Amino acid sequence: MNKKIHLSLLALALFSFCYAQTTIPADSPAKTEVWTPVPKIITPAANGTGPASDAIVLFDGKNLEEWVSTNNIKTNAKWKVEDGILTVDKTSGNIQTKRSFTDYQLHIEWRVPANITGSGQARGNSGLFLASTGGGDAGYELQILDSYQNETYVNGQAGSIYKQYPPLVNASRKPGEWQAYDIIWTAPRFNEDSTLKSPAKVTVFHNQVLIQNNVELKGETRYIGAPYYKKHGACPIKLQAHGDKSEPLSFRNIWIREL
Ligand code: MG
Repeated sequence: MNKKIHLSLLALALFSFCYAQTTIPADSPAKTEVWTPVPKIITPAANGTGPASDAIVLFDGKNLEEWVSTNNIKTNAKWKVEDGILTVDKTSGNIQTKRSFTDYQLHIEWRVPANITGSGQARGNSGLFLASTGGGDAGYELQILDSYQNETYVNGQAGSIYKQYPPLVNASRKPGEWQAYDIIWTAPRFNEDSTLKSPAKVTVFHNQVLIQNNVELKGETRYIGAPYYKKHGACPIKLQAHGDKSEPLSFRNIWIREL
């Protein structure tokens, strides 16, 4: 089609649209109907916990292609993959995704081994860093721990935003049983001068129970002292190989939807 005709048609369409909008009487229900843009069509999972068609599968039970070692991000993650399950290898340290993310919906399943030993923070400790801002444990940690009849400080139990927000309830299952986190993460935004524009926000379901309701984070997780922010952009997601002596945790079915 010739460019002029094309432009004329476009102008005509725009005019008709505006005309139609302005000619709808104010008391008509059509006045408040919105028809565009049409939400993208995706296919939901056949079962409630599986990935929808637009999800990125981060661990499908077969390999660690989406992960690297935090100690050396040029090397593939070395945690053990067997029978569709990923198990922490404490000697090789934390692992993180190759990709970086900003806002997302994430599903992850984890299991404390049935034969877990230790107590408090030294019993089935791991963690999900919602955004990994650097090496080691830098970032924002959603705690993973055996919190089934295992006392510790409440802002450090399973489902806590570590040292910031205890979970609303303790929805922990027994060691040996699979548990799930479903997370909605809104990354913090920063101004050009590095000051905070808007804080990170997170909503978390633990075993389908709401445990964090859109809480505003006070900054990155700090083991000692108050949390604070430091400007960053999109970040990988990281899993913690905690240094405690208890038996290592396992993971499965990890997927993410970028928002
Ligand atoms: Mg931890």
